Amino acid sequence: MELQEVSCPRCGNRMELWVEVELKNGNGRRIRYYYKCPRCLNRLEDLTVSIERKNGKLVLEAEERIYVLRRR
Ligand SMILES: [Zn+2]
Repeated sequence: MELQEVSCPRCGNRMELWVEVELKNGNGRRIRYYYKCPRCLNRLEDLTVSIERKNGKLVLEAEERIYVLRRR
């Protein structure tokens, strides 16, 4: 994932990148990257990474959502 300037598809304002870490049941966690518009609070999911411990191994899963983004 690269940092880029993203314009809100709804109002055209510049969106901010947010990171949210969430504990998954027991021994895993999920990290979400998303863009949020400070003006209209529109939200675009960008990348989600899940880290989980299975049988003593760390399992990492990444899910990237692709949007058509306008650049200014
Ligand atoms: Zn907006």
